[in-house]
Amino acid sequence: MTISIYKWFCLTIGLRKRGQGLRESGAFLIAKAGSSKISTIVFYDELDSEAFKSGIIVLNGLGHAKLGEILNETKSEVIADIHTHPVGCSTRQSDSDQKHPMSRLKGHIAFIAPDYALKRFLMPWDCSSYLYQGSFQWQTLKEKSFPLKLTLI
Ligand SMILES: [Zn+2]
Repeated sequence: MTISIYKWFCLTIGLRKRGQGLRESGAFLIAKAGSSKISTIVFYDELDSEAFKSGIIVLNGLGHAKLGEILNETKSEVIADIHTHPVGCSTRQSDSDQKHPMSRLKGHIAFIAPDYALKRFLMPWDCSSYLYQGSFQWQTLKEKSFPLKLTLI
């Protein structure tokens, strides 16, 4: 999948701003149906204002319903999600990350950004990526098969 450099920096700045070096933040990465180019970023707190309050990410049912509306209206689909992990912690998936995929579709990709996305020029390859295989099974995507490329536009 691809994302423009501009959108990528909007994403990392949005994660940093929301986390404030204190809590996890995250977003859905959305593409037009059938496309692998990320067209829209929806931060979890735009769907549920309480999503980041507890320090870990919890999206309520209403939030999922709002997401469904956005996807319907824009004929789009969630192709990936991203969330941050605390400063100095690994970007391996936690038990909870594995057991609570943000999308239950096979082929969904979850990115984990290090250090609450505080790094000024955080790049996609600074993040870890995991491919959802269904039934709460994930495959780690290593450098060679890293699934997100930056494009100029
Ligand atoms: Zn996590």
